[in-house]
Amino acid sequence: MSDCIFCQIIAGQIPSVKVYEDERILAFRDVNPAAPVHVLFIPKRHFANLGEMTPADQELLGHLLNVIGREAPGLGLADGYRVVSNCGEPAGQTVGHMHFHVLGGRDLLWPPG
Ligand code: 5GP
Ligand code: ZN
Repeated sequence: MSDCIFCQIIAGQIPSVKVYEDERILAFRDVNPAAPVHVLFIPKRHFANLGEMTPADQELLGHLLNVIGREAPGLGLADGYRVVSNCGEPAGQTVGHMHFHVLGGRDLLWPPG
């Protein structure tokens, strides 16, 4: 069994509230939401973060962002949202499986902390 929490979610070993799934990616609600809508979009293949992805993965990366753009309105984010990926501990990454946070449903501050 993988010791990666998100790989365990993909495998169905940890429950999650899924909002989108296809053969390559999964999206589910963040267990500790930082905004009224807070969804995590992840590749099913394990990468520690963006730094581990290569040019060979650019189609997967583009697919992730394209799905976010298409799914966001249906998640209650038609008025606007933020997409962010924390890469490395100083940036706030706590789960070592590459993911995009999609946040909205309230006014968001900029710059982030
Ligand atoms: P990071 O801090 O790495 O950028 O983001 C990790 C996110 O994963 C956090 O927002 C955290 O709340 C969320 N998270 C951690 N463990 C779980 C879990 O078991 N289930 C779900 N749905 N979200 C999780
Ligand atoms: Zn993983």
